Amino acid sequence: TKRHRVTVVGSGNWGSTIAKVVAENVLEFPNLFESEVQMWVHEEQVTIPKSSPSYDPASELCTKEQPLSALINTVHENVKYLPGIKLPDNLVANPNIADSVKGSTILIFNLPHQFIKKACDGLEGHIVPFARGISCIKGVEVSQKGVRLLSDMIGERLGIYCGALSGANIASEIAQGKWSETTVAYDPPAVDSRHPTPRHSPTTSSTNLGMTPANGEKIKLQALPSDYPPLSHENMKHLFHRPYFHVRIVSDVAGVSLGGALKNIVAIAAGYVDGLGWGDNAKAAVMRVGILEEVKFGQMFFSTVKASTFTSESCGVADVITSCMGGRNFRCAKMATERGVSIAEVEKNELNGQVLQGTTTAKEVNDFLSSQGKEKEFPLFTAVYNILQGKNKPEDIPSLIEVKD
Ligand code: NAD
Ligand code: 13P
Repeated sequence: TKRHRVTVVGSGNWGSTIAKVVAENVLEFPNLFESEVQMWVHEEQVTIPKSSPSYDPASELCTKEQPLSALINTVHENVKYLPGIKLPDNLVANPNIADSVKGSTILIFNLPHQFIKKACDGLEGHIVPFARGISCIKGVEVSQKGVRLLSDMIGERLGIYCGALSGANIASEIAQGKWSETTVAYDPPAVDSRHPTPRHSPTTSSTNLGMTPANGEKIKLQALPSDYPPLSHENMKHLFHRPYFHVRIVSDVAGVSLGGALKNIVAIAAGYVDGLGWGDNAKAAVMRVGILEEVKFGQMFFSTVKASTFTSESCGVADVITSCMGGRNFRCAKMATERGVSIAEVEKNELNGQVLQGTTTAKEVNDFLSSQGKEKEFPLFTAVYNILQGKNKPEDIPSLIEVKD
């Protein structure tokens, strides 16, 4: 029998961390997975910082700029996006996106949502037709037609089924092997007769606006050839679950994806109130309203979403909490408020190339809500957008989200 080959599309802070998790796991299940894991790197020239364990003043590598992919393959550290973490030797960085997915039956999408369309352009025509995907990206796609999950966008674009992984997962903690939980949503239609996982719902992620038929139902999915191990929930769990990274598998792809995307707006609101010095009670109030708006958004626009995905799973409430305590969106909004500068300026100066998702998601969600005439029903999401636009101030948040009797 054949084994699954795995590619991680993306190599940022979270991309490199998930690649490390997966590269460790494939070695534990040699009957299921090939031992080499590919990771596509958006190539750039970097120098090894003096603080890196890979820094050696005597080495030629440290005297001049090097392509990031070559450095990763030499020193087994992503010195720019995940510094200080040793990556497994069986993880291979590849700057050629088409080559990185050659022969891969499992594609893990993990890059800032701003770049996923371009990445799909590079992948089209190069992927294994019966491949399956998992999106670890936290964002949504908005067009005039409506709002679309990135897992659906990827799936439809590439003609494959794509599930989602999202949770309370600050990458640097997981990279250091500190325990966390995550949620994986994987619910493909049963085109594979050996597929032992019953689908729990007829559709996974259709919007009520009729924009997106369920992932895997619009496209003609190809069955996994019978000489590959089935991609059951159990085998998917083997790919991601580690002693320090506990996976729960659910079927609600839309709920998992929306939790990851919308919490970034909530985290910006938390950064605003913390930046004002208002303390933990204010932050908790923002989190409470944020979770309510996540549930409302999911149920209003996606027919299959379960409220419990937001209220009970790592991808919902737990991600809101961790993101409002230590996430980059939170930290940048807090610093921006304290310094009286824009979040974009803080992002540029403080993140060393890492990219925020919350500012673009706040705009995308607002574009969609205003097109539906629903802004007033989502006062926190709307407040964050208006503050980003300079139309309101962080100090206005309490009155903007207050429910008036
Ligand atoms: P990141 O913030 O580290 O972003 C930098 C990455 O973007 C680098 O790999 C860089 O090469 C790449 N990049 C820059 N310009 C590009 C371009 N033009 N085309 C393609 N790639 C380009 O990224 P990340 O932290 O890995 O985030 C990926 C996704 O994971 C995001 O949706 C994020 O919300 C989510 N996520 C992040 C964390 C975290 O703690 N970092 C945790 C959970 C989920
Ligand atoms: P930030 O992108 O705000 O750092 O959030 C990370 C995250 O998604 C934690 O689960």
